[in-house]
Amino acid sequence: MNYKAPRGTHDIFLGDAMSISFLEFKAKEILKKYGFEEIRTPIFEDADLFVRSIGSNTDIVEKEMYIFEDKKGRKLALRPEGTASLVRAFIEHKIYNLMPTGKFFYIGEMFRYERPQLGRYRQFHQIGAEFFGNSSPSADAEMIILAHDLLSSIGINNTSIYINSLGCEKCRPHFRNALIEYFGPTKDLCNNCCRRLKKNPLRLLDCKIDSYKFINIPQILNYLCIKCRDNFDTLQVLLKGVNCSFNIDKKLVRGLDYYTQTVFEIRSSDLESKDTLIAGGRYDNLIKELGGPNTPAVGFALGSQRVLLVAKKQKLFSNLKKTEKILIAIANQELFSIAFSFAIKMLRNGLKGDKNISVFCPKNTENLTNQLKFADKIKASKVIIFAKDEFKKGKLLVKNMHNGIQSEDFINNFF
Ligand code: ATP
Ligand code: MG
Repeated sequence: MNYKAPRGTHDIFLGDAMSISFLEFKAKEILKKYGFEEIRTPIFEDADLFVRSIGSNTDIVEKEMYIFEDKKGRKLALRPEGTASLVRAFIEHKIYNLMPTGKFFYIGEMFRYERPQLGRYRQFHQIGAEFFGNSSPSADAEMIILAHDLLSSIGINNTSIYINSLGCEKCRPHFRNALIEYFGPTKDLCNNCCRRLKKNPLRLLDCKIDSYKFINIPQILNYLCIKCRDNFDTLQVLLKGVNCSFNIDKKLVRGLDYYTQTVFEIRSSDLESKDTLIAGGRYDNLIKELGGPNTPAVGFALGSQRVLLVAKKQKLFSNLKKTEKILIAIANQELFSIAFSFAIKMLRNGLKGDKNISVFCPKNTENLTNQLKFADKIKASKVIIFAKDEFKKGKLLVKNMHNGIQSEDFINNFF
């Protein structure tokens, strides 16, 4: 039997594992600076939570969800995104009382049944942030700047920010009607678009097959009510005020139904078609719709694998500092348990205070030649050898594996 990882999933190891850890470490640093606190939610939820929040006429709910029944017949889904779960937790635990900053982040795997290709997988990682309880466009600006800072913290700079407004429940229906009028007579729409025209015409703007055909399409920005227009203008003033350059993408709608007013994406020209690294927006009605208190919210999610593809292309992580490896070895079997204790002490205390090292314990089943061969294999920089004659004088041998030079030092000098 030859088992393989399921289609669209990946084992992450070697440099890729280091890179994703580094990205998540840097992200946590920045998120903390902006006052965000971590929330971990289950990887599966009631399937209905996603249907209600993401919307039944979206790609995710129509074709991308992993839905299954458990032994009690509960209909569950592997999470396709993080916002719905965070909102569910926010309401369930009345988190608004426990964590009043309203700023939360999550890091973890998401699952979508998509056609696997570069930058699009069935299991992928997201880093997401949500800001609850602030309806001001300054919260939108803060989130866009935070998203941009996450990318620059790891050295990705040549990105572009795109913003748009989707209006609110007052002004969006006018735009919706204008779209139906515009698309109505169009004959050559794909099946999906034909079906969605009546139910969810905004989704047509995001159609990966047809959208290039839509020229002179009605534009949401011409339909915004005064409040939505004002908010969108203020957002732009705030972004300009901190020299954050952006573009207005009048067709930007996003793949989830819960967005209102501001939506945004950060894209990289290094990724060809799968170019969106971060996507987000405002969703002022979702918390209320899922049974919580009326709470405005804005958030985004970063696709870690896509960010890493860009980082690789730009050779950003090629010199991530690797820790020095040190092997403790024995030349005489009777020194084994003392050498083992020494190794554990070094593991805990470091070598002369340097804790950025990895220590490998001795084996009592190998002769010294095999231990040195192993040191070569793992690319250890040093082997510290317990040998009878030197040990009697309170000393250990140190073999520098780069130049082969062997020296001696007193045991006490190692700490
Ligand atoms: P797309 O239009 O590319 O399908 P989306 O609108 O479905 O994106 P979101 O749900 O907003 O994407 O997810 C936020 C980010 O997560 C995306 O910008 C992308 O970086 C990443 N992402 C989404 N789907 C996948 C996937 N299947 N594989 C890898 N990364 C993904
Ligand atoms: Mg998608």
